[in-house]
Amino acid sequence: MQQTSVQKVTILGATGSIGKSTIDVISRHPDKYKVFALTAHSNIDLVVAQAQVCQPEYVVISDETYYAKAKQAFLEAGLKCELLVGLDNLALVASHADVDTVMAAIVGAAGLLSTLAAVKSGKKVLLANKEALVMSGDLFIQAANDHQATLLPVDSEHNAIFQCLPSDFRYGDLPHSGVSKILLTGSGGPFLTKPLSELPQVTPEQACAHPNWDMGRKISVDSATMMNKGLEFIEARYLFGLAVEDIEIVLHPQSIIHSMVQYTDGSVIAQMGNPDMRTPIAHALAYPERIASGVKPLDFSQLSNFSFAKPDFERYPNLKLAIEASRHGQHATTTLNAANEVSVAAFLNGHIGFTQIAEINQECLNTLCSESPTNIEQVLEVDRLARQLASALVAKSKLNSSVNNRVLS
Ligand code: NAD
Ligand code: MG
Repeated sequence: MQQTSVQKVTILGATGSIGKSTIDVISRHPDKYKVFALTAHSNIDLVVAQAQVCQPEYVVISDETYYAKAKQAFLEAGLKCELLVGLDNLALVASHADVDTVMAAIVGAAGLLSTLAAVKSGKKVLLANKEALVMSGDLFIQAANDHQATLLPVDSEHNAIFQCLPSDFRYGDLPHSGVSKILLTGSGGPFLTKPLSELPQVTPEQACAHPNWDMGRKISVDSATMMNKGLEFIEARYLFGLAVEDIEIVLHPQSIIHSMVQYTDGSVIAQMGNPDMRTPIAHALAYPERIASGVKPLDFSQLSNFSFAKPDFERYPNLKLAIEASRHGQHATTTLNAANEVSVAAFLNGHIGFTQIAEINQECLNTLCSESPTNIEQVLEVDRLARQLASALVAKSKLNSSVNNRVLS
């Protein structure tokens, strides 16, 4: 299929790591893509600079308290585009009739409703926001089918799997394509070899210093705990219709292979490239064509070491929790995702230690249980209850540590 007209793109989460890389790729192809709308939560300076370059029709600031600041900055910059504020307007620019493609790159559950709005408007949705799919799973895929939305995975592993599967792959039917297994790779993050006894003391800065990828802070912590691989395990199940047994997680610290598909005849097809999100972004934007992304080609003469291992659940308890939650279903995955957002934020704010992230997540999973949600309102209620419990557990932990500090001093 040759795309002739210019695609209009809304970038949800434009000021984040994925958003910035998306603008970088789009700006290399003004003949093919035009930014229609940019959204940011609070980083006004950056979104104003981006709007000056991209000249979108709309900019949405989702945190309404920044309205006055944004309005002033728009006036000073002489921007002509329309400035909108508030969460409802995220959905408006995601579903606008003039939009062809939506990059869903808001972090966390905050991206759910706008991503769903894009899906329900039958857009081409480039899915980076894995948490939306983890929370709403079957409902999300059903909405994409009902509204003929095109879902293209941007998460590098899922994009790799998509590239390694045959084009006639049928959702959930591995035998039809002769596929025996999906090999989901992960680097193991910055604490792959750190003594386990030192993990309780690691700092947010150490956790965010990923050896291969440059990402937002939440996903960086998730990579250090391997919750990211757990969320990706769940994401892969929904995206490709996989059973738990269809996926094997393989540690590959160099992050050059982004995932693999194993076939029944013994063949393994891998997708490789330098760890730079502009490759999957460019792939999803241009699919089924190929466009330049600005990523340096792999230099095999420099790749001296390719290693693989099995993940160790003692080091990565969050990975085990996510696989267990995935076996339990939608209620458990939504609970785990919400608990994890709260515990990771608490770790980043210095309120709990690194290993407490998994402890709080585990307690939320053990305590909360109900029927699986059958509509988005129920999903949001499960999410709310898990956040409430996780926040209470964080508060209890803060109280305990301040009592301990007083006893010690
Ligand atoms: P980031 O923290 O760098 O950026 C997040 C973006 O979301 C920002 O634009 C911010 O303004 C916006 N945002 C934050 N809170 C919001 C709220 N409450 N309401 C509306 N908007 C809000 O994150 P990132 O690293 O770019 O990741 C974005 C998503 O892509 C995540 O779901 C992540 O898991 C996924 N992803 C990221 C990478 C990567 O390399 N960074 C790779 C694969 C998948
Ligand atoms: Mg990934």
